[in-house]
Amino acid sequence: MKVIGFIGGMSWVSTLDYYRLLNEEVQRRLGGLHSARVILNSLDFAPLAQAQKTGDWEKVGDILITAAVALETAGAELLLIGTNTMHRVADTVQARVRIPLIHIADAVGDAIRDTGMHRVGLLGTRATMEQNFYSERLAAKGLHVLTPPAAERELLDRLIFEELCRGVVTKAARNLVLSLIRELQQQGAQGVILGCTELGGVAPQQSPPVPLFDSARIHALKAVKLAFSA
Ligand code: GLU
Repeated sequence: MKVIGFIGGMSWVSTLDYYRLLNEEVQRRLGGLHSARVILNSLDFAPLAQAQKTGDWEKVGDILITAAVALETAGAELLLIGTNTMHRVADTVQARVRIPLIHIADAVGDAIRDTGMHRVGLLGTRATMEQNFYSERLAAKGLHVLTPPAAERELLDRLIFEELCRGVVTKAARNLVLSLIRELQQQGAQGVILGCTELGGVAPQQSPPVPLFDSARIHALKAVKLAFSA
């Protein structure tokens, strides 16, 4: 089992989920007291979120490169960045380490392609929904991506940063996410990507209107699969 290097803290809320998912999957595969081999580099999210907001992706890249190099030096054999949005700088990070970075959008794209769907909705931060670093990766897998209108993208972005990334979950948040899923379905989406690692905590668990693709879950399961590959 390879050692997974995990850049976390973006936010700490979803890093908790990832840690559980990685360990549950290893236990499911090996049984007994087996657990995942993980080195966690958990960052302070505030300066990163601020740099993201001002479009200072160079600063984001520098912080993540430092974190990735530290993980590689510590013995990590695979690299995960536990957020969709920060994959804006994934290529820059990958260029600075030898260990493979498991790209979250590739993992999600492969999972969707396996189902045969080709039109999917994407929910996430404004950067993830509006910039092309994420959707072009999905397009490369033959997927057509739909997003909510501008006003709703703004609402969802605020929900993510003002509540979900701080561990706040309300009924209003659940209702908003459900209504966005329904709208995307009406636009023709066959499924919806929970393209923010905190969204699994507020999305409908039982009988969603369309199949949901939880990016954190898919990413974690792919990491464990690769941790067991030669
Ligand atoms: N965890 C979120 C995501 O998956 C948002 C936090 C961030 O901006 O990195 O995009």
